Amino acid sequence: MAISRRGFLKGVAGGGGLLLVSGVPIANARMSTELPPQAVGLLYDATLCIGCKSCMVNCKTQNSVPGGALYKKGMTAPPYEDKGPKGDEGIWDAPQELSGKTLNIIKVYKNGTAETKDTAVNGYSFFKQQCLHCITPACASVCPAGAFRKDPGNGSVYYLADRCIGCRYCQLACPFGVPRYEWDSAWPEVRKCQLCRHRYAEGKYAACAESCPTGATIFGKVVDLRNEARYRLTLTPGTVYDFPVKTVDSTEKSRRPVARYAGGTYGLVEAGGTQNIMLSGVSFELLGFRKNIPNSDLPQLTWHYIRKILWVFAGVFAGGTAIYEFTHRQEKEGSHD
Ligand code: SF4
Ligand code: SF4
Ligand code: SF4
Repeated sequence: MAISRRGFLKGVAGGGGLLLVSGVPIANARMSTELPPQAVGLLYDATLCIGCKSCMVNCKTQNSVPGGALYKKGMTAPPYEDKGPKGDEGIWDAPQELSGKTLNIIKVYKNGTAETKDTAVNGYSFFKQQCLHCITPACASVCPAGAFRKDPGNGSVYYLADRCIGCRYCQLACPFGVPRYEWDSAWPEVRKCQLCRHRYAEGKYAACAESCPTGATIFGKVVDLRNEARYRLTLTPGTVYDFPVKTVDSTEKSRRPVARYAGGTYGLVEAGGTQNIMLSGVSFELLGFRKNIPNSDLPQLTWHYIRKILWVFAGVFAGGTAIYEFTHRQEKEGSHD
């Protein structure tokens, strides 16, 4: 039985959060652990990334059209971040984190003198954060309303806003800390990358890969991306290699020496495996990615844990909303001083 958003809010407001237990579709905990036959995804190779952020711009632009992961009825322009961390009114879009307006972000790691690219000590590296499109997504398994789904064909994990009840279990369940809530919206939704699934019918693919000039982000079938990643790890650093640009099977290449990779591939086994995988010259721990995620799918474990303490999440929902309303009101009152 799916719960309406209105029903959920009434339940929480009335202190009846525990009643939700009866409405949660436990079947979601038993999801496939197999890679879908036509699974697509991304390979991000940090050693090829120049930090230009074209991927972020195109992501925002292409997802602000009907069907896109950022689109809302009546939207006429991409949603820009208009406030920086210091409260400055932005003159351009410069997001610092994933948010309800930003589905994909490029960050930088720096150490010491930060002189050498893709080096842990006295070096720097770019890295990309976004939804990894888990093979067995914890976000979908815990959603009591069936608002998160995994496409059985291409494997993209997508969101149905009209089913969402705003409980934010998905945020708590995601082992990679990806989903974001639109705190500043009157009718908030959860936001995350949907692998640009709205573009496939037109023969298009992920906007971030489409606009990447170096081949740092490429799109394709997951089996091909995995083979490509494994092959790169066998190459001797300094070997000249034709890296595919935009898609894994592209004839467009970027010829350059192979960098020294640190460790293996991120996303291959974490949380039971994901459809987006990454390579880097700096270890993923140093880049801030969690490495203590079990190498088995999480939904079963997550669900059994969460359903026992549903009232905590109801409290988190009510408390978080109240705190946000309070601080937001203070901010508004402060701005009129
Ligand atoms: S990374 Fe998080 S939001 Fe993305 S599919 Fe996996 S659990 Fe869901
Ligand atoms: S696949 Fe699409 S939605 Fe996801 S990060 Fe890339 S451009 Fe953004
Ligand atoms: S477009 Fe490519 S090179 Fe530029 S920041 Fe994004 S991933 Fe890196």
